[in-house]
Amino acid sequence: MRNTKINIERRKNKKTKPAPENLGFGTVYSDHMFIMDYSTEKGWHSPKITPYGPISLDPGTSVFQYAQSVFDGFKAYRTEDNRILIFRPEENLKRLNASCDRLCIPSIDEEFVLKAVKQLVDIDQDWIPTLKGTSLYIRPYIIATDVSLSVTPSKTYKFIMILSPVGAYYSEGFNPVGINVEETYARAVKGGTGAAKTAGNYSPGYKAQEKASEKGNAQVLWLDAIEKKYIEEVGSMNVFFKINNEVITPPLNGTILSGITRMSVIELLKYWNVPVYERDITIEEVHQAYVNGGLEEVFGAGTAAVIAPIGQLNWGDQEMVINNKQTGGLSQKLFDTLIGIQTGKLEDPFNWTVEVEKELTL
Ligand SMILES: *Cc1c(COP(=O)(O)O)cnc(C)c1O
Repeated sequence: MRNTKINIERRKNKKTKPAPENLGFGTVYSDHMFIMDYSTEKGWHSPKITPYGPISLDPGTSVFQYAQSVFDGFKAYRTEDNRILIFRPEENLKRLNASCDRLCIPSIDEEFVLKAVKQLVDIDQDWIPTLKGTSLYIRPYIIATDVSLSVTPSKTYKFIMILSPVGAYYSEGFNPVGINVEETYARAVKGGTGAAKTAGNYSPGYKAQEKASEKGNAQVLWLDAIEKKYIEEVGSMNVFFKINNEVITPPLNGTILSGITRMSVIELLKYWNVPVYERDITIEEVHQAYVNGGLEEVFGAGTAAVIAPIGQLNWGDQEMVINNKQTGGLSQKLFDTLIGIQTGKLEDPFNWTVEVEKELTL
C-alpha cells in the first residue's frame, strides 16, 4: 500500500484550542484524525484523514468483548526554529507490528503509516504546543471490528490515529515520587502479553495503583508474577537503578514492555561510557544496596514523563529513601539530553528525530 493516496477531508471550522498551561494528558484532541480499514479481501485500505469526531460501531463489535486491540504512543515537538520533529517513530511502528503479531492482528505497512503520521501532524501542526514541557502526543491504535461474540480473531479491523496536545508531566517541577512495591497483584507472566502494548494489559493494574495511591504513592513497582522477587516495571514505564556507579535495568524477557525511552537511555549511557546492564535484578538486591549505601538513583523511563525520578520505594514495611528524595545527577542529565534532542535544542548524534518536511505534497 506504499503509494496509496490518503484521502483528505478538512474540517471547516477549527476547534478552540485549550490554554497551553492547562493541558492534561490525552483530554483534548486536535482537528483531524487518520483512519483506515482492514478486510481479508482488501487488506488495509481506504486510508483517510477526516475531521476529528465520533465513530459509529455496532454494540456487538468484538473489541468491546475480548479487547483484541493494540496501540502505541509517541510525540511530536516544535523546535525554536519552527521545525517539527517526531521522536523515533519508526521504532514505535515496528513495536506496533510486534504487538499486532501477538494479538493475531494483521500487520501494517510501517513506511506507509509513517507517511500518514507526517501528513496528519502536518495538517494539525498548529496543535503542537510550544510551552516548555509540552508536546503533541500521537496515539495510533487498532481495534477488531467483526460483529461477533465468538472468541476468535476478527476478520476486519480499524486503524485509527489521533493527536493530543499534552502538558508538562511535572506540574510542580521534576520531583522524585514515592512508589509502592506490589506483592499481591501481577502485571504479566512469561508467555502472556506483557511485552505487547495491548488494551487488556492496563486496567488489571488499576487495583494495584489504587492500593499504591491510598498509601500516598504515585505508582506501582511490578515484580515478577511467580516469585514476587524480580523487578519488572514501574507503572507504565521501564525502570532503572544506579547502584555503585553502574546502571541496571531488567532484561526484555517477555513480560516487560520494550520501551523506546528505555532503549534510548541505554544507548545514551553506552555513548557516555556509563556501565549499563540489562539483567535480572531482585527487590532484595535493591534493598541490600540501599542498606549498604550503594543505591544512588532510581528512575522510570517512558514517553509520557521521559524520565521520572523515584525518591522512595516502599516494600512491605521497608521504606527506602533514595538520594534524599532529590533528583540524581544522572537522571537529570538523561532528562535534559533526551528533551534537548526531542525539541531540537541539542545535536542529535543518533539521528533519532524525524522531521516533518515543510512542503508535504498532499
Ligand atoms: C509504553 C510503555 C512503556 C514505555 O515505552 P516507551 O516507548 O518508552 O513510551 C513501558 N511500559 C509499559 C507497560 C508501557 O505500556
